[in-house]
Amino acid sequence: MGLNAPNSKHFCLYCECESNICWDMNLKWPINKNTQSKKKSELFPVIKQKNYIPDELHLLLRILDVLMECFFNDLFKKKEFERVIKSQIEQTMKSIQVHFEFFKSQGGKWDWTSLMEPDKKKVLQHFPVTNFISRRRGEDIQKLWRDFYDLYMFIRQTDLKDSEIDDFEIKVKEWIYLFCRPNQGQINSSSQVPGLYRKEDVTPYMHVFSQHIPEFLRILKEKNLSLQFFFASSIEKKNHNQVQLFFGGTTMGGEIKGKSVV
Ligand SMILES: [Zn+2]
Repeated sequence: MGLNAPNSKHFCLYCECESNICWDMNLKWPINKNTQSKKKSELFPVIKQKNYIPDELHLLLRILDVLMECFFNDLFKKKEFERVIKSQIEQTMKSIQVHFEFFKSQGGKWDWTSLMEPDKKKVLQHFPVTNFISRRRGEDIQKLWRDFYDLYMFIRQTDLKDSEIDDFEIKVKEWIYLFCRPNQGQINSSSQVPGLYRKEDVTPYMHVFSQHIPEFLRILKEKNLSLQFFFASSIEKKNHNQVQLFFGGTTMGGEIKGKSVV
């Protein structure tokens, strides 16, 4: 694919963003060839970068994996996790019709059932995070889950208006800022706002979601298309990061002769 490893400094197929600054939503990263990724040549060098459509299913699956891992990591630190919290979570999942179990992996670390898309959507929409993490932090984490569900459902719609895409872009960037919000205000004062997760926890998928999906939505809208046409979820379950679509002699950016990506 010509992709660098997700943990490499230049991780992105679409731009030259570096991993240590991908949390910063004040920076703008238009879709462009990642010239820093010289390690591998492109598999299909004649396909323009804008014609690799991000796979919305994998955005959902991988971003929710991170949200769940961050949430569980908070709970693993509690001494009553194994005795009390573990079964409470399993029961709560059952109450929203999701089969879910924790188990210990070989190294003795906690692992859990890997969920498929329909179950992940139920969890995002209905799991009561605030029952397990109290006060502002719990409320904010639950908001992260619910807001992510709304953003994800938005990109699945057809016939989007320009103003709706603009609004989505603002919301998805606010979502990233909430995800990695640092502590604010004086510690232990009533005005203190607790931080959520670390900037380093912002993943390449979150970067694509926030920086490139709005542009893809605009490009597709110009062509009277939507991401709905490219959903892999209804076609197949695959492990690739991207759905590659070959558009023959045309380009999607409105150009007739686009530069090739080589
Ligand atoms: Zn990028």
